[in-house]
Amino acid sequence: MQQPRRRIRGHRRPIALAGATALVIAAVASASTTLPGAGRASAGPAATSQDAALAPCRISATMGVQMSEGLPTPPGYARSTGEIKALNLMIDFPDAEGTEPATDRYAEFFPQTSEWFRASSYGRLVYRPEAPVEDWLRMPMPFTEYGIERGSPFEPGYRQLVKDIVAAADPQVDFSAYDLVNVLVSPNAGPSALDTVLSVTFSGNDEAPTADGVPLANTSFVYSRQDDGSGSYAETGYRVLPHENGHVFGLPDLYTMEGGGSVGHWDIMSEDWGANNDFLAWHKWKLGWLDNEQISCASRSGVSEHTLGPLATEGGTKLAFVPLSAQSGYAVEVRTAAGNDEAVCRPGVLIYKVSSDVDTGQGPVAVADATEDSGGCTRRPNVHAELSDAPFRPGQTFTDRANGVRISVLDEDDDGNYRVRVTRP
Ligand SMILES: [Zn+2]
Repeated sequence: MQQPRRRIRGHRRPIALAGATALVIAAVASASTTLPGAGRASAGPAATSQDAALAPCRISATMGVQMSEGLPTPPGYARSTGEIKALNLMIDFPDAEGTEPATDRYAEFFPQTSEWFRASSYGRLVYRPEAPVEDWLRMPMPFTEYGIERGSPFEPGYRQLVKDIVAAADPQVDFSAYDLVNVLVSPNAGPSALDTVLSVTFSGNDEAPTADGVPLANTSFVYSRQDDGSGSYAETGYRVLPHENGHVFGLPDLYTMEGGGSVGHWDIMSEDWGANNDFLAWHKWKLGWLDNEQISCASRSGVSEHTLGPLATEGGTKLAFVPLSAQSGYAVEVRTAAGNDEAVCRPGVLIYKVSSDVDTGQGPVAVADATEDSGGCTRRPNVHAELSDAPFRPGQTFTDRANGVRISVLDEDDDGNYRVRVTRP
């Protein structure tokens, strides 16, 4: 039996509103070692197939890490390729009644979320949202009585809430027909997201309350509105949901207690406010959206060259990886302002360290900044400025002296492909 753990993961400070602090909660996962109910989410990212040449680059999960960057993603999470059916339930409370039609709340997230996943996955994740109940499901108790606080995985208040949701929806909903559940809460319940982000995901949790014989093991709750007042909410406010669903697919939080300074805006698991952004190539491999053929593993000693195409376009080699140990290595990829990446102001070669033995919210990924202390190249709200110009340009070299690793960007061709030279012991 695993005890539910309370996790408070970090802060976000929307730049548009000086002084406002948003606490973000993490998703929690009691990473399960047993499969949930048959026919339900058997984690099946395609990246589980074996390939000897890639073996040294498939850094593995570590015992004791709740949500790891390692490969493969353990069982219990939702499948991240193929057709995924997402159940959406809109709920309100006697003390926080929905003031608009529930279908308007749904329309804040769809079809944008499905399109985000289609673009990011190159069409490999076909996200099918359904809202079989078109009205608000009224909860029997006032919101305040549930005692919903930041990040409490199926603690008594949440257990009661889920029980009440199931009771209200069950006559109209077959829970066993879905791969994941999104609970879209009336935005007037609880604090403003500018003060406290309550949105949370319980993933891979086979101790979750059950409905129609299956545990609600992969469930995201979205509260309030991630509206920074900049006027972009209609275009970008939905992005909390791809972030929360990222946990359902087994991805950890990349922001830390210090905020987004580890990864900046280079992954939606780091920053999900503000301008649109994509997943790191590492995440796309982990999710099965990049094939093994699209990964170039720099495991042999000496010098190797790798040609990488922009991550936003489909096909070709997307990720070079330089393993340092069984639990860590450097990922190398090309990021441009295209696809889901809207705010890239210095396109080029992004280099970051991935550590599968570092847990969610503790900094499992750290981006190397080619232009340290530059202040960055963006002033867009909610985009971590310092790391916005992190990519390396032709002629620049990243050096890790302790490990004897050098990664040099040689050139860029007319099609936007970059040649990278890796030197390693
Ligand atoms: Zn999160």
